[in-house]
Amino acid sequence: MALQFGASVFEGNKAYRGNDVQAHLFRLSEHFDRLKASADRLCLICPSHKLFVSAIEQAVAQRENWSRPFSSEWLYVRPVLVGLDDHIMPVISQECAFYVLVAPIRTFDPVTLTLSVISHQHRATPGGLGAAKTAANYAHQFQATQQEKVRGSDAVLWLSPLDDCTIEEASTMNIFFHLKSGVITPGLRDTILAGITRRSAIELLSDRGITVQERDISIEEIKDAAMSGDLREAFVTSTALGVRTVDCIRIGQLKLGTSLDPSLSQSLATELKQVFAGNDASKSSSWIRAIGLCEE
Ligand SMILES: *Cc1c(COP(=O)(O)O)cnc(C)c1O
Repeated sequence: MALQFGASVFEGNKAYRGNDVQAHLFRLSEHFDRLKASADRLCLICPSHKLFVSAIEQAVAQRENWSRPFSSEWLYVRPVLVGLDDHIMPVISQECAFYVLVAPIRTFDPVTLTLSVISHQHRATPGGLGAAKTAANYAHQFQATQQEKVRGSDAVLWLSPLDDCTIEEASTMNIFFHLKSGVITPGLRDTILAGITRRSAIELLSDRGITVQERDISIEEIKDAAMSGDLREAFVTSTALGVRTVDCIRIGQLKLGTSLDPSLSQSLATELKQVFAGNDASKSSSWIRAIGLCEE
């Protein structure tokens, strides 16, 4: 069912190893809640919260998983849930498999990103699967993404299929804009994946007294704000990249400079890393789960 009909959902989480005895997992229960919602949408049998947590803990606790094929302080954690039944009818699977893939992450100096707006293809449709973390949401992005990469962009910034104007998200990242009047991000709807890094960014900004407005944002509004100097910066959020500054958005031939002053996104990126490392007591207690690493 998974290979033929896309009966497949997953999560993306990250663990940080501050030292040789402990690793930190981030907002694990929220990743479980999202896996459950994705599984429900595709009628897959979801593992229990207990099984989800213990499978991830076991994978993360193995020291050797952090050093093969190279050594890293960061481990990418990819829980996957797939339908197993093996007949040719497109129906609900009676049996599912749950597994956890882990891999060390190579860390590079953070580079800023260029996004391309396109309107001939779309990521998600209302009533569709955009809010579920399911296999079906990715392969159909490859063609446009590849075309834009050739033109020098890192990812596509997807617009709503309803009006080709309302900004949704970037491939596997949620997007924020810092205007003179405040910080804004597209409001959640069923064509947008509710990122846990997105939520974390909103909460960390709120702790600083900055309220993020979640609302419809049109590409025209961002274009005008960039032209008039009202746009200070744009940034994207995801587990893999954390918080990343977007310094250019391409709209056709137009190259819009989107980060005059990336200080907010850069301080947010640093703050998020501090929380991961367990150095922010107020957030770490609720967001971080510490796991003891096993002896070799
Ligand atoms: C996973 C994902 C995100 C980011 O979610 P995080 O929980 O922050 O990693 C954003 N958009 C899409 C389409 C995704 O698959």
